[in-house]
Amino acid sequence: MKEYWKKNGFILAAALMLSVISSTMSAGISVLLREIVDAAAGKQTAVFGKLCMFTVIYILMICAVSFFSSVTAKYLTGRIIRQYRRDVFRGIMGRRPVRYYQEHTADYISALTNDMKLIEENYITALLNTFELAVMLAATLFLLVLLSPAVTAILLAAFVLMLLIPAVIGRFLEKRQTKVSRQMAVFTESLKDLLSGYEVLKSYNRIEDANERFQMENETETRVKFQAARLFALNEGVSDTLSALSISVVIFASAWLVLTGHISMGTLLALVQLSGTFTAPIVLLMQNLPKIQSVRSVIARLNGYADSGMGEKKPGGIPTFGHAVEFRHVSFSYDENTPVLSDISMRFERGKKYAVMGPSGCGKSTLLKLMTGGLEDYCGSILYDGRELGTLDPDRIAGIVSLIHQNVYLFNWSVRENILLHEEFSEQELQEAVEKSGVSEFLDEKENGLDYLVGENGALLSGGQRQRIALARAMIRRTPLVILDEGTSALDRETAYEIESRLLEDEKITLITITHHPDEELLTRYDQVYRMG
Ligand code: ADP
Repeated sequence: MKEYWKKNGFILAAALMLSVISSTMSAGISVLLREIVDAAAGKQTAVFGKLCMFTVIYILMICAVSFFSSVTAKYLTGRIIRQYRRDVFRGIMGRRPVRYYQEHTADYISALTNDMKLIEENYITALLNTFELAVMLAATLFLLVLLSPAVTAILLAAFVLMLLIPAVIGRFLEKRQTKVSRQMAVFTESLKDLLSGYEVLKSYNRIEDANERFQMENETETRVKFQAARLFALNEGVSDTLSALSISVVIFASAWLVLTGHISMGTLLALVQLSGTFTAPIVLLMQNLPKIQSVRSVIARLNGYADSGMGEKKPGGIPTFGHAVEFRHVSFSYDENTPVLSDISMRFERGKKYAVMGPSGCGKSTLLKLMTGGLEDYCGSILYDGRELGTLDPDRIAGIVSLIHQNVYLFNWSVRENILLHEEFSEQELQEAVEKSGVSEFLDEKENGLDYLVGENGALLSGGQRQRIALARAMIRRTPLVILDEGTSALDRETAYEIESRLLEDEKITLITITHHPDEELLTRYDQVYRMG
């Protein structure tokens, strides 16, 4: 987190300076009060009038400084959170697929929303607040020593007592806060799952069960949050009581000093006022310190996300596909006990067409993931033009291979944006891809054509239409290697046949079609068929 404070050093300095001015001025009010009371007691009317005027101006100035101080602090908090969130998001998205899928998307969502909020409130705001309170405390202490060392000694004794308590409670709070953060991730995950499964739940009449499940998570979340809140409340209760006690002690001690003629009534009032500005910050500090401590584990987790992308970026050569991609005696398993691929050897030459066939579950998708650098720790060799995949930059594979998955993901954007994915292509290239993929056929029915919004994950399109957009996405990129991962399965037979035919006719591309239900006629047009399983 430190680097974010440093990065915003200038604004931080401004915020801290304003906060020093604002808190010192607030402490200074007690001196003014003493003068006013003593002037009244001494019946000095002219001085009294002037002091009253000055006090009004002084208070207005405090008001202005405190406003600017607060605005600067909020601006700084906003900036830091924005930068931190950007880095955490980058880190998550920069993960290699193996790592990315180790955690659920809901965990990431929760980190970027719930956890960020925790950090904003319980860390950044709390730290800035703590600084302001510490300055106020120092200024008050200075004035207190000037007015009465004896009363200061009493207050300091109370101070030590008051700081011991949050230290003890803080440790418990850290544990509770970790639990809250985890529970919020579970809650988001379950919520996302239930909402995404709406169609299944509705068609099997399981909505009532979903309501019950949600209610269960809802209750657990509330309970876990309440357990943490209870501890915060205990902390606050104890600190409030101690503060009330210490103010009473100061009143007794100061009254005794007035009785014995050691101090004036004005000084008594100033002391009582100062003990307020002394204990109030301590109470707030007591509440802030455990908060700051409690989010440490959350910050550690988010830092892990922010750093994860960077650590994984391996420098590597630029992959090429001039001649062939080859699998030599490749074996792979997700876990030690169940081998998925054993001793696979295949060769895909540039410009040729290949079909890889096999029953469901035989490892076809795994083969694909290996080929595109999505999985590591395989045995044997995967060679791009004779160079081992492990020595190449995995991010550059996308420049060679276009993948058309069985499950197409469409963003809630227009058809055009879903094809371009915000990459630059000419209008002519776009038109060509739209024609070749068959997207143009269904666009004719849509009023706004390419600007038609497809809805959440393409909900406003049919399965076949979604697949055609996926085809257009691949075609516009003109990568030398196109992989159809049962990519035409959602299309009707005729369109599927037509699209596969077009890809087979395209001499420029190397096609690998991965399928478990091949069209026998099309199969004869492939240069080679590999059978798995
Ligand atoms: P296919 O594409 O031929 O249907 P897959 O390559 O998807 O088959 O899966 C091959 C086997 O590997 C299956 O038994 C599947 O359960 C398993 N598998 C796939 N992905 C994972 C994963 N991420 N972790 C563990 N096992 C997996």
